[in-house]
Amino acid sequence: MAIKLDFTSESVVIVCDKCPSYRAVRVGRVPAWAAAADHERAAHDGEKQATLAYGMARMRELQDNLKKEAAKLSPYVST
Ligand SMILES: [Zn+2]
Repeated sequence: MAIKLDFTSESVVIVCDKCPSYRAVRVGRVPAWAAAADHERAAHDGEKQATLAYGMARMRELQDNLKKEAAKLSPYVST
């Protein structure tokens, strides 16, 4: 994959092997992959790795949120 994410404790740096001038910084995994997917769409027509990774990161975030919401409901639900 040409686009790489470098996770630090506070932010994520997005760099692209093929585009030395491209560099972006985001806070959080999902916004970082969104920026990577945007760059992929704009500069690397036909490539899908960052777009797929963005979809997976987004799905994982939604699953985590769903689990948190379900945990809040658990006192009210008898199984
Ligand atoms: Zn690039």
